[in-house]
Amino acid sequence: MSGSIYLDYAATTPVDPRVAEVMSRHLTLDGVFANPASRSHMPGWQAEQAVESARRQVADRIGADPREIVWTSGATEADNLALIGLMRAGRERGRHLVTSTIEHKAIIDTALALEKEGCEVSWLTPDGSGRITPESLKALLRDDTVLVSLMAVNNELGSINDLAGLAAAAHAAGALFHTDAAQAVGRLPLNVAELGIDLMSLSGHKAYGPKGVGALYVKRSPDIRLEALIHGGGHERGMRSGTLPTHQIAGMGEAFAIAGREGEADQARIEALQARFLEGLADLPGIHLNSTTEASVPNIINLGFSGVDGESLLMALRNIAVSTGSACNSASVEPSYVLREIGVSRALALASLRFSLGRFTTADDIDRTLATLRHALTGLRR
Ligand SMILES: *Cc1c(COP(=O)(O)O)cnc(C)c1O
Repeated sequence: MSGSIYLDYAATTPVDPRVAEVMSRHLTLDGVFANPASRSHMPGWQAEQAVESARRQVADRIGADPREIVWTSGATEADNLALIGLMRAGRERGRHLVTSTIEHKAIIDTALALEKEGCEVSWLTPDGSGRITPESLKALLRDDTVLVSLMAVNNELGSINDLAGLAAAAHAAGALFHTDAAQAVGRLPLNVAELGIDLMSLSGHKAYGPKGVGALYVKRSPDIRLEALIHGGGHERGMRSGTLPTHQIAGMGEAFAIAGREGEADQARIEALQARFLEGLADLPGIHLNSTTEASVPNIINLGFSGVDGESLLMALRNIAVSTGSACNSASVEPSYVLREIGVSRALALASLRFSLGRFTTADDIDRTLATLRHALTGLRR
């Protein structure tokens, strides 16, 4: 580990030490460990209180009411619950779903599964900078469109969608609007009421909380009914059964509270680091910025290196933790579908790397990465 630089915050973030401390107080006999559904004793009530206080922390971060938060195992499950739960419950209204070709696999594969059970899916394509325009959405909406699902921030490009414009377009056609905001928490102000969001998927581990926990925001409205995917004790108002993992939930709550207090300062620092990185690359030939610096979070810098082999470059950068394509399909040699969709050639997509920065990235990390990159490119291009 020594000497290694972590620049893969979009794949996962380390748990903030303050979050780890809170989690450790919710595990052992001397802490708050009981089953939050145990109503017959004090330890159970304390656990329930910890869960409810975290529910408020998460709700506060997105301008929601705590009763609108459903705990899940992560954003993947929240995406599944939103899409499948809503499309199944909305059968009588229609079977049409609209999403995009650059969503996370948790959305794309769920939409494909819904196609197999008789739903019809329309796929929006992004503009060259990785955004879906409200105009392109309007063209695909129909009377039987039940749901539109479009991500807040793209995990490979950092591009930010105009959620308010997209939600307004969906609503004008009588459809509901879901957004996967896993990459947005701590990077953007997010207010579900102001943006007009009906459902929002959240993840703990993209925001310095633990892996294995997430949430789905479900607006309290008579129009919104979800069919549960996981049946059991009727937890979470019947929408998601299973004993709540108190330590994970308390950790996610603390992480979201910190994001609310410190997100803006984090982002100002990260923006300066992004500028430092891009300036340091300016005199190197053959580097293409796949991501953009406009309407994007500064955390994600996606670069294409023409004339070098992506695998060899990754080998030369082995002391730096970065991603090729997205982490979920790095086992295959197919180029990133997100880069292909914004018009990057197959060859350049195969020679592209995603550098993602976060709360603990330092100027020294950036300078050492630049030096390593310079050395590697000179060697590979010789
Ligand atoms: C990481 C990520 C997910 C998956 O979240 P998990 O909590 O790991 O299930 C979904 N969507 C996006 C955009 C992500 O970045």
